[in-house]
Amino acid sequence: MALYANVIVDITHESLDRTFQYRIPEALASKAEPGMVVQIPFGKGDRRIRGYITEITDRAEIDPARIKDLQALETEGVGVESRLIALASWIRQYYGCTMIQALKTVIPVKKKEKAKAKTSLCLAVSCEEAAEKLEFFQKKHQQARARLLEALLSEQELPMELVTRKLNITAPVIRALEEMGLIRKETVQVYRNPIHLKGGAGARVTLNQAQQAVVDAVVSRWEEPEAKPYLIHGVTGCGKTEIYMELIAHAIAQGQQAIVLIPEIALTYQTVIRFYRRFGERISILNSRLSKGERYDQYERARQGLIDVIIGPRSALFTPFPNLGIIIVDEEHETSYKSETVPRYLAREVAVRRGQLEGARVVMGSATPSLEAYYKAKNGEYTLFTIKERVEKRSLPQVVTADLRTELAKGNRSILSGILKEEMARTLEKGQQMMLFLNRRGYAGFLSCRSCGAVIKCPHCDVSLSLHRNGRLVCHYCGYETENPGSCPTCGSGFLRSFGIGTQQAEELVQKEFPDARILRMDLDTTREKDGHEKILSAFADREADILIGTQMIVKGHDFPGVTLVGILAADMSLHASDYRAAERTFQLLTQAAGRAGRGTEEGKVIIQTYDPEHYSIQAAVRQDYEAFYGQEILYRQISGYPPAGCMMAIHGSCEEADYLELAMDYLRKFLERLAGRCRAGIIGPADETVAKINDVYRKVIYVKHEDERALTLLKAKVEQYMEMNEGFRKLTIQFERN
Ligand code: ADP
Ligand code: ZN
Ligand code: ZN
Repeated sequence: MALYANVIVDITHESLDRTFQYRIPEALASKAEPGMVVQIPFGKGDRRIRGYITEITDRAEIDPARIKDLQALETEGVGVESRLIALASWIRQYYGCTMIQALKTVIPVKKKEKAKAKTSLCLAVSCEEAAEKLEFFQKKHQQARARLLEALLSEQELPMELVTRKLNITAPVIRALEEMGLIRKETVQVYRNPIHLKGGAGARVTLNQAQQAVVDAVVSRWEEPEAKPYLIHGVTGCGKTEIYMELIAHAIAQGQQAIVLIPEIALTYQTVIRFYRRFGERISILNSRLSKGERYDQYERARQGLIDVIIGPRSALFTPFPNLGIIIVDEEHETSYKSETVPRYLAREVAVRRGQLEGARVVMGSATPSLEAYYKAKNGEYTLFTIKERVEKRSLPQVVTADLRTELAKGNRSILSGILKEEMARTLEKGQQMMLFLNRRGYAGFLSCRSCGAVIKCPHCDVSLSLHRNGRLVCHYCGYETENPGSCPTCGSGFLRSFGIGTQQAEELVQKEFPDARILRMDLDTTREKDGHEKILSAFADREADILIGTQMIVKGHDFPGVTLVGILAADMSLHASDYRAAERTFQLLTQAAGRAGRGTEEGKVIIQTYDPEHYSIQAAVRQDYEAFYGQEILYRQISGYPPAGCMMAIHGSCEEADYLELAMDYLRKFLERLAGRCRAGIIGPADETVAKINDVYRKVIYVKHEDERALTLLKAKVEQYMEMNEGFRKLTIQFERN
């Protein structure tokens, strides 16, 4: 059977989807792989040019007789592009997407952006010659020419701007001197630098024993090509970031570069400044606030060896460093490492893959590792380090629960339990700070009818609308906004009441309770404007407020030494989500939130308000006992065959027509059943997604479980083929999701 290679000849973003097909001569067939550089005959004259193999297939896209042969494979001096294309090929196979989608994910935007350039003038002749000419111009009273030469004799190089603005020299004068061969223009690319900091590099702390042990272990295996990824399980505030920086310093000393992945929301001024103090100008960042041009410039600076360290969210993983030494994945358990668009890759997994492909070390860290990572560490797939103590023996906060059921029985209907209220008063009295954490936005005050129970929903999405303080109802999925209708659209009753509590309301209620307290609120609404996060966080860090109230986003990695009390208003909210990871998410959130307390010298206290204080994820959070939580949770996963005990793949289907979607997904299930009979896969669904409609598009999902992930990769390929061959699936959009 003939094999063909799809080849791209130009890696700019717009031309990624232009591939050309070549036959792979038999002698090369066993060696050809995606990512390899090949020589091909191109165009009418069969000019020999270079390209990259993106895909190898047995399907000819045009008449096989017209397909030319590849001429050669290059194996020497493979560049970073080759390795990234190989990574894309793995992403396509594993997560399910087209090769173009995979390539566009890993190859940074390389639009023919007007890269910024800086032009300057310099002498093209010796100083003696220039001096002679200067005299000549002066004699001739050619003032402008003389002025320019004079300036160049003393400065050697002058920025164009200065020449035209300050020296008042016009373009014709410059052109004339250029033509006479006296001066020449020099243009250098300048790349935009998103970091505007000043000051020296080199700041470092002396690592304690626990930190040094991790560094030593990783460094001692630096040259081992088969070294496994590392997982640091360390309590909040145990000094993981210092460990990362030490390892990065080691990489740099070897002439290698480093990628640091952190959740977007944790990429604050505080973090950047810590890395800057250590590594100075040789670092850069990527985040969603950079313009396209700025992003492109950072990738380009990396490619050209102008920086050694890039810090950013998951897309930073694809930075084209020429000699990548280490990839750090901080807060490894974070959900933001999962891409929500196709390909729905998980940065932790792709990091491990890129590490393998490039011989780079991968170090993950978390106070609450994902069950998957911890499971792998336990099974010896990752090397595990455990750090149980905070730096300088700072104590972990004391955690207690407040049972909301007893509060209710006592007649306390406020959002603050008796004990939390007392602790808040005490904290305010001492002039210390506190954080109040409201689990999950969107639960925020929706309107429901007390007569018939109807909930006011978004007409385009299957979710309730949220009531905002300005009285309007807003959909958090599609942005739809409307007036409060005043009466129930279903039964006409005027008895509409809001239900649940949002951050705005919480702020009002707390303010009523403590009229003198200064409160800041951080949620999607207050952080919408540019740098909104930063402003609120730095105001709080500067002690401009006593209380910070917020959602998820206040728990992420911020270090406020003044905070001694953390209150979690309703811990159960995420416990009952319809997701097998609900308990894990709850435990992570509670532990991370608790970790915000007592990071300074004062001891911290945490109060978890809950309706379900006996639940194991809350109990384990109270004792800050990850092992205990893991032990319980892994049992539940094993019994039910959920990851990491088994492997699972979701097939998300969507379509604007509800009936069509139902039919198509049923067909898909039947097809899967036929395959599954042979490979013992379990199938669940099709069922409505948690949000069954978004933006007028209906959504359903099928889950496939199997103990072996390779079986799922195979099933996925079969489904892709089946859908491609059946016209009937044309209107169905499918996305695969692993785990
Ligand atoms: P983590 O990333 O595990 O939460 P960090 O690295 O942010 O922990 O460390 C917490 C705090 O302790 C930071 O302020 C950091 O500068 C400080 N720190 C870390 N390691 C040391 C050390 N060896 N000696 C003194 N201070 C340290
Ligand atoms: Zn009603
Ligand atoms: Zn909507």
